[in-house]
Amino acid sequence: MDLVGTKNKVLNSKPVACVCADCTHAEQYVHTFQTYFHIFSIPIFPIRKHSVLECQQCNKLSLEKELNDQRKAIVKLTAGQVKTPPYMYVGSVVLALLASWSVYTFELDSTRTEAFLSRPAASDVAVIEAGQGQFQVLRLIAIEGGRIRYQISQYVYKNVASAKTAIKKRVIDEAGFFADGLHEMPIERYQKSHVEFVQRHK
Ligand SMILES: [Zn+2]
Repeated sequence: MDLVGTKNKVLNSKPVACVCADCTHAEQYVHTFQTYFHIFSIPIFPIRKHSVLECQQCNKLSLEKELNDQRKAIVKLTAGQVKTPPYMYVGSVVLALLASWSVYTFELDSTRTEAFLSRPAASDVAVIEAGQGQFQVLRLIAIEGGRIRYQISQYVYKNVASAKTAIKKRVIDEAGFFADGLHEMPIERYQKSHVEFVQRHK
């Protein structure tokens, strides 16, 4: 089974008065299918509808393009009444929600980071670029006379996201997360360094 691709679903099977070209039986079914794009079988968006005609007696199947004009008209009329169900768009809706949620949380994080950075407090924890594309967590211990006193994590992260996760999941509260030594620097230097994220820790 393809994890990503297109699938067909029968939306409707309706009996119609229409003579079979083979056995002349007077009733046939119009089966209407929806082709849709899916990811892991979840419908993302509908692509097109198409129909086949099936004889109730001899089971002859005819594609729309194989029908004469009169039969084609019957099929088109029947298929036209079949609506694409809203759940065919469910994946698109979910993807759109996920995208706007991540944009929202990203903006919220940036706004907070700026606010916390402009007025640092003793409970702040920050993700700071340690150089060479690596990141560390810094914990403010005190702010005195225009200087911050801080601890720095023993751990180094390869990206901002995993450092943020350590803060959010409170890994940073575990013993030995921060190195013992206390450092200090002017507030201004802290504000001008590559601080990627700040959380006011409680
Ligand atoms: Zn037939």
